[in-house]
Amino acid sequence: MSEPLRYLLNDDEVPTAWYNLVADLPAPPPPALHPGTLQPAGPDDFAPLFPMELIMQEVTTDRYVDIPGEVMDVYRLWRATPLHRARRLEAALGTPARIYYKYEGTSPAGSHKPNTAVPQAYYNAAAGVRKLTTETGAGQWGTALAFACQMFGLECEVWQVRASYDQKPYRRAMMQAFGAEVHPSPSDATEYGRSLLAADPDNPGSLGIAISEAVEVAAQDPEIRYALGSVLNHVLMHQTIIGEEALLQMAKAGDTPDLIIGCTGGGSNFAGLSFPFLREKLAGNMAPVVRAVEPAACPSLTRGVYAYDFGDTAGTTPLMKMHTLGHDFIPDPIHAGGLRYHGMSPLISHVYELGLIEAEAINQTDCFAAGVQFARTEGIVPAPEPTHALAATIAEALACRETGEEKVILTALCGHGMLDMAAYDRYFEGEMVDYDYPVEQVEAALSRIPQVPA
Ligand SMILES: *Cc1c(COP(=O)(O)O)cnc(C)c1O
Repeated sequence: MSEPLRYLLNDDEVPTAWYNLVADLPAPPPPALHPGTLQPAGPDDFAPLFPMELIMQEVTTDRYVDIPGEVMDVYRLWRATPLHRARRLEAALGTPARIYYKYEGTSPAGSHKPNTAVPQAYYNAAAGVRKLTTETGAGQWGTALAFACQMFGLECEVWQVRASYDQKPYRRAMMQAFGAEVHPSPSDATEYGRSLLAADPDNPGSLGIAISEAVEVAAQDPEIRYALGSVLNHVLMHQTIIGEEALLQMAKAGDTPDLIIGCTGGGSNFAGLSFPFLREKLAGNMAPVVRAVEPAACPSLTRGVYAYDFGDTAGTTPLMKMHTLGHDFIPDPIHAGGLRYHGMSPLISHVYELGLIEAEAINQTDCFAAGVQFARTEGIVPAPEPTHALAATIAEALACRETGEEKVILTALCGHGMLDMAAYDRYFEGEMVDYDYPVEQVEAALSRIPQVPA
């Protein structure tokens, strides 16, 4: 094969601004609300948790935000990431479709997460913060933040969902290698964690619980702030470096995507790849269909309600209007830990309501089958999360084999799975199960979301 397999960018071609989709939307997203007054939350409501620079990025309507030089200096350790053409996968599928994937697994954490961890650590350090706290599910975000804190001389304390703390000792060790202190969540280090452990010492934890613990610690000390790895507008904006690079790389490849597919937990890698392409679509320069793929066991976009809800389980964050399964819904323990979140980013939920994106849900065994096929053709073992996007991509490519359509598909390969081999092991042993959509648990959780008058 002499045809290109990868499209790269030179250092001086790497984009130097993040893109804010809010600037180009036909309607503004609904504001976050103060949970007590139900009035729009102002900067002061977020100030105990985040530095002002990030709060301003959360609400800005500017189209672009310049990436600080100090952040670019760290990004340069691994950016630009490669755009691959999946020629061997295409050949194996016998499809006329052209499949491209933007690979974020070359970062220090092995995923897209450092794209926002680095600027978040930078802005906190610049504001005089001493320590960042956070939650982590699969361990990817904790690893990314631990690394980023090292770059800017910050301490880092991580609450890792108990189930993953026990199942993924190597992720924990990686966070420790990057200097973080790691607790299983629920933990005895917080009041909320102690209350949960008193009720059930074997509580397996959830992302929502771990967020509550990390927020509790940050809110008590002005030198400590909290960092969130997904969901919020500023996080999605930091991730748009992915799509800005991909636009340049697709141009080098001489192709324009007809379909863009990404997996969604809180929505950040999906937004990161797709939002710059949505800008081009809204400007009439291209017309890709943009599709989010979520786990059938935690389908916040396809089955959740669009309502104001808390971002955490304890109910301490401002209320955000989003697709939610209920803030105290605890998803089944699927292996794609990064997709086990009860809600969806408010901005993505809004974009979905506007009809600018579509969504589908897929079971995990189908996803792992796709991941294995991808590994055997492209030579990269994907993280469990992006196997959701790969399963949808492969299904589309097979449909093109029937119709003969030369569709151009671009997908987000947001991380590698080399610390997720225990999940692959379960799959190979035939022990992986699919979970039915838990109708009753979701209905119960939805009955407990706050009542906000329209
Ligand atoms: C965290 C994570 C996700 C889910 O988060 P998003 O904000 O939806 O991107 C998906 N894939 C990987 C590899 C992750 O680390």
